Amino acid sequence: SDADSEGTLDAGSLRTPIVAVLGHVDHGKTTLLDRIRGSAVQEGEAGAITQHIGATAVPLSTISEMAGALVDPTDFDLPGLLFIDTPGHHSFSTLRSRGGALADIAVLVVDVNDGFQPQTEEAINILKRTGTPFVVAANKVDTTPGWNPQEGQPIQQSLEQQSERATSRLNENLYELIGDLSDEGFSADFYWRVQDFQSNIGVVPLSAMTGEGIPDLLTVLMGLSQRYMKEEMSVDVTGPGVGTVLEVKDEQGFGATLDVVLYDGVVREGDTVVVGGRDEPIVTEVRALLQPRPNAEIRAEKQFERVEEVRAAAGVKIAAPDLDDAMSGAPIRVVRGDDEAALETVTQEVREELAKIEVD
Ligand code: GDP
Repeated sequence: SDADSEGTLDAGSLRTPIVAVLGHVDHGKTTLLDRIRGSAVQEGEAGAITQHIGATAVPLSTISEMAGALVDPTDFDLPGLLFIDTPGHHSFSTLRSRGGALADIAVLVVDVNDGFQPQTEEAINILKRTGTPFVVAANKVDTTPGWNPQEGQPIQQSLEQQSERATSRLNENLYELIGDLSDEGFSADFYWRVQDFQSNIGVVPLSAMTGEGIPDLLTVLMGLSQRYMKEEMSVDVTGPGVGTVLEVKDEQGFGATLDVVLYDGVVREGDTVVVGGRDEPIVTEVRALLQPRPNAEIRAEKQFERVEEVRAAAGVKIAAPDLDDAMSGAPIRVVRGDDEAALETVTQEVREELAKIEVD
């Protein structure tokens, strides 16, 4: 289940679950994503994480190293987790796949001191509407008065190192949060007490700043995907690629390019693709597939490296002619082979999906 040379996670026929991070402004979404990237990198070995276009892949091997005793890697056969790098419910609700939300699961970040805020409510409503399973990251536990930080530790280990006073102040906040979730119709509890994550929301106390509780969050996300989403993750990873456009960007030497999250199948150089455009679906041919160059080699003039193919789930930049009118949030589909009928069908499907997006 290691990252292969193309920077995608490959575990046979199970794809990587796609994770989005939501929550009120300043509650710590960006810090959490940075921390997940950073602490995974600190774990040392090359390939600890893979930077994609618009996303970060954390392989199972890295999660189990970070989580230590929390994870038995043989419990899991999903290859890891793919975090969408753009946090916030705006990006979450505009990024969709055929079935609904582009993300398979979500992390709702709530500042333990601040509790539920307007954008927390909005995020909850979107998660309800899309039926997206989620866990709550009760963030900033380190701001509890008297906190004794335990860099990168599982949260229960950290709690053992806290004074009674600090623990009870934190618990007050956490119970308030559990109450707020209950007002929203969710039965929630500390994640280690949750037996059935389908009917209960797990609350993970953590600090994006000190990293304590991050191993727990990754473990809970793996468990949630493994138990309840394995069927959805069983996709034909060699079928024609299907994805969602995150952004349309001009790149020197390539013109308009698409930053895409591929959630199904494979896309190869030379593939015919149909992508949602301002007026009509655009039919074009993939000229280049680009991934970020690994950090060590970043040079201003060569940010990207070309790859021949990319498998779901992954973020990738697609260079192709005629992309100026492509739209962010639009679907993109590969049509394989020289099949006029298939091209016509896919074009019609993309047209219908676009019409739906514009109505919402
Ligand atoms: P976002 O708007 O949700 O992306 O929030 P940010 O990640 O930008 O965080 C907002 C502020 O809270 C920043 O000043 C962060 O440094 C701080 N912050 C985020 N997480 C933590 C945490 O776990 N502990 C502490 N002490 N500060 C945090």
